[in-house]
Amino acid sequence: MDSIRTLREFSCADDYDPNSLPVDRARALIGEFLAPIGVVERVHIRAALDRVLAADIESPFDVPGHDNSAMDGWALRFADLHPSTDTPLRRIGASFAGTPFAGDLGPGDAVRIFTGGVMPRGADTVVMQERATETPDGVIVAAGAVTRAGQNRRFAGEDLKRGATVFRTGQPVRPAELGMLASLGLNEVSVYRKLRVAFFSTGDELRPVGQPLRAGEIYDSNRYTLYGMLKRLNCETIDMGVVPDVPETLERAFRTAAATADVVITSGGVSVGEADFVKALLEKLGKVLFWKIAMKPGRPLAYGKIGDAHFFGLPGNPVAVMVTFYEFVRDALLTLQGRRGIPTMPTFTAVLAEPLRKAPGRTEFQRGILSRDAAKGWQVRTTGAQGSGILSSMSQADCFIVLAADTGDLAAGTPVEVQLLEGLL
Ligand code: AMP
Ligand code: MG
Repeated sequence: MDSIRTLREFSCADDYDPNSLPVDRARALIGEFLAPIGVVERVHIRAALDRVLAADIESPFDVPGHDNSAMDGWALRFADLHPSTDTPLRRIGASFAGTPFAGDLGPGDAVRIFTGGVMPRGADTVVMQERATETPDGVIVAAGAVTRAGQNRRFAGEDLKRGATVFRTGQPVRPAELGMLASLGLNEVSVYRKLRVAFFSTGDELRPVGQPLRAGEIYDSNRYTLYGMLKRLNCETIDMGVVPDVPETLERAFRTAAATADVVITSGGVSVGEADFVKALLEKLGKVLFWKIAMKPGRPLAYGKIGDAHFFGLPGNPVAVMVTFYEFVRDALLTLQGRRGIPTMPTFTAVLAEPLRKAPGRTEFQRGILSRDAAKGWQVRTTGAQGSGILSSMSQADCFIVLAADTGDLAAGTPVEVQLLEGLL
């Protein structure tokens, strides 16, 4: 598919005002152009952590492989137990996890068994050791110690049946999946290769860390928040530094970035194409749409294709970079990584602990701090001043308070939507 041509047609066909594009609309538009990069590699399961499975995984056997005991105790036949009096049984051996009892268990027999020990042939039930008294040649099981056949016994295949699909393509590998893959005896799996993301900052005022500032200059922090957010998503990062607003230099940077990376992200003036030459340049290199999103912070946003690479032009303001990354770029990267059922940011309702100020007009992503209220529910307050240059507001926040465009000032006690940042930041 020639996605650049499609993007061009799309932008013409779209009837939304690019100077006031709703957040959902921008998200949906970007979504139209995303497909997993789909390059597969085989890696050791340890290296698969935070990657995405590129093939279905079937269980090669039952897990667990044998019926086994859920308790330390005694394996026996339920039918041998007197319902109302203690039952003496004969000890014929022991079954340890890893060392099964080899014989058969017959009427009146008991086998000492430990958690994970294989159930002896003939036994159907385990009585926990606390309800049994060991004797020199056996055990006395207390009346009522078990109430039904099969108690305290784990069944072969109760976790996974042989041949069952354990994971489907697109499954992210987290600690639980790592453990499950290991329990299946797999030491290698197919995963999608890491996304390569190139990024640079634009702005004559920006100085890289490690250099002294001259009058009017500031340190380039966006490349570091971007680096951090990209690493959290397990992307391969290509940091291209600060690129000055010089046409030839900028063109070279875009060409290099698009040739080496799956995704190109910039922050600063370039994103909105303030300078006409930037728009002309991106028009020459690919197809990019320049929007003003009806949101705060994060109004200017550009999305498009430069060659085969996806391009995100983020605003320059440090908070706006993070908000637009979480609201637009994150889901896009997860899709490109091949993830199924992308979990958008976890969202729930909390109650305002304090009044909140908002002018109607745009969707706002105010930075919030959650806490438990007296009723053990969640309440939220803002971090204070909400300027889009106040990066400490992101550091203090554990959530965004998402306020719909038509919302105005809100009183304490009003329920609001919050997006959890915990674990993402
Ligand atoms: P711009 O979108 O380029 O007009 O930038 C908006 C604001 O964000 C200005 O105050 C810039 O100085 C600031 N800014 C832009 N890029 C960066 C950066 N990489 N790191 C820190 N601040 C930045
Ligand atoms: Mg700038």
